[in-house]
Amino acid sequence: MIMKNLIDKLFRGDTLSRDELSLLIENHQNKEISAYLFEKARQVSLRYFDHNIYMRGLIEFTNYCKNDCYYCGLRKSNKLADRYRLSKKEILDCCALGYDLGFRTFVLQGGEDGYYKDRMIADIVSTIRTNYPDCAITLSVGERSFDSYKMFFEAGADRYLLRHETANADHYARLHPPGLSLRNRKECLYYLKEIGYQVGCGFMVGAPFQTKDYLIDDLLFIKEFQPHMVGIGPFIPHHDTPFAHKPAGTLELTLFLLAIIRLMLPGVLLPATTALGTIHPQGRELGILAGANVVMPNISPVGVRKKYLLYDHKICTEEEADACKNSLQHRLESIGYKLVVSRGDYKFI
Ligand code: SAH
Ligand code: SF4
Repeated sequence: MIMKNLIDKLFRGDTLSRDELSLLIENHQNKEISAYLFEKARQVSLRYFDHNIYMRGLIEFTNYCKNDCYYCGLRKSNKLADRYRLSKKEILDCCALGYDLGFRTFVLQGGEDGYYKDRMIADIVSTIRTNYPDCAITLSVGERSFDSYKMFFEAGADRYLLRHETANADHYARLHPPGLSLRNRKECLYYLKEIGYQVGCGFMVGAPFQTKDYLIDDLLFIKEFQPHMVGIGPFIPHHDTPFAHKPAGTLELTLFLLAIIRLMLPGVLLPATTALGTIHPQGRELGILAGANVVMPNISPVGVRKKYLLYDHKICTEEEADACKNSLQHRLESIGYKLVVSRGDYKFI
């Protein structure tokens, strides 16, 4: 059967042509084909990571943003967003709590907020680095200059998450206002790699105007860029954005793409995202069973959780960090996997 041959080809480490990827993606709603694809992807993740799932403590430290991405609830034109910033002390308190819960990676994520000057971020990073020498520090604060990225790296940051969002320039222009470009986004990604970060790129599945061809562009870009991490999750509309009435991305397509990415980059760190858990009650478990190996529970203070609303109906906005982690732990145990206390670095194999 053609589809199984294509999946076997990916499984063996061969690359697929555009036409072959196209054929495969066209079949994402076919239950039998997806089941075979997920099984192969799962085999690969078990070979590399066993039943271990890495966890990252996500600290959403500011929801101010100077950008205006059409899809995001934090965009500056959303005047209804209730804005907040965490102080250095509040961020360090999140780390202390996270450390006690077994987190060995902290992810500092936020909108592009000019309030946090380079020196402030570097200072926060270097304090975390001093207090927790055994932890990885990941930043996800958008597009900055080469020098800023370098300063953060020298202060002790190890990893950086910057989704490319879409690898097609026309599509990029339909998701962002003029002033933001794919070219700049990609330049940042290459800077980050050059500096020595473990870098994560990624995109939203089912983003408005996305086509199968654009998804192939994404997969080919990921193959070329060779990131250490790939963050993908469904697009979910936010009611106060220009895309309020666009449909959300589907579970089937997200799982299908997770599995293809696992086969294309066997050792990559691949989160089962909160967005995936938001569109389906078992979304994250199904993501793991399709080849994902990372989860990123929220360890931000509960008081600000509901304010970091990239999209509607986001899960885990009510629970304390320990409750959040415990429920994930049970979910993973129910499918035979376990959360591990580890930095969970990318391994060059
Ligand atoms: N400001 C930083 C980090 C925060 S946004 C940045 O943009 O890189 C983190 C990610 O959330 C974005 O990369 C985007 O892919 C995702 N996101 C934003 N709005 C979303 C939505 N409506 N649905 C799903 N994911 C969304
Ligand atoms: Fe800002 Fe990131 Fe949202 Fe764009 S996706 S508006 S940069 S927080």
